[in-house]
Amino acid sequence: MMASVRIQRVVVDSILTYAKIFHPKEGILLLRGRNEKNTILIDEVVIPPFAVHGTGFSTFPVHRLPADFSIVGTAHSHPSGTLYPSIGDLNNFYGKVMIITAYPYRSEQQIAIFNKNGKTVAFKILNN
Ligand SMILES: [Zn+2]
Repeated sequence: MMASVRIQRVVVDSILTYAKIFHPKEGILLLRGRNEKNTILIDEVVIPPFAVHGTGFSTFPVHRLPADFSIVGTAHSHPSGTLYPSIGDLNNFYGKVMIITAYPYRSEQQIAIFNKNGKTVAFKILNN
């Protein structure tokens, strides 16, 4: 079972910046990393190929992803400012974790991580 997530500071900064660029539309990113015992380490973001950015939705065609991608989940922004997943988010869950960042995307205060069941997952930011 996944107990927690460790995430590099550069990943947090990338998610916040990306969300700001796309505002007031949603931005979506893929998260790359690896499992370490009962933690997931997230150390890279990848811009999904052929992503669609909309108001209230962001999607990407999963079948177009290269098979060797070590994708552990996705991150997307909520321009509305809500820091919890929508029903649609949970129905389209991809990977092990879902990061949501809510407007105004200033810091990790506006970031939350969820598992497949929509439960909050604790995370630790690695500064190095
Ligand atoms: Zn969402």
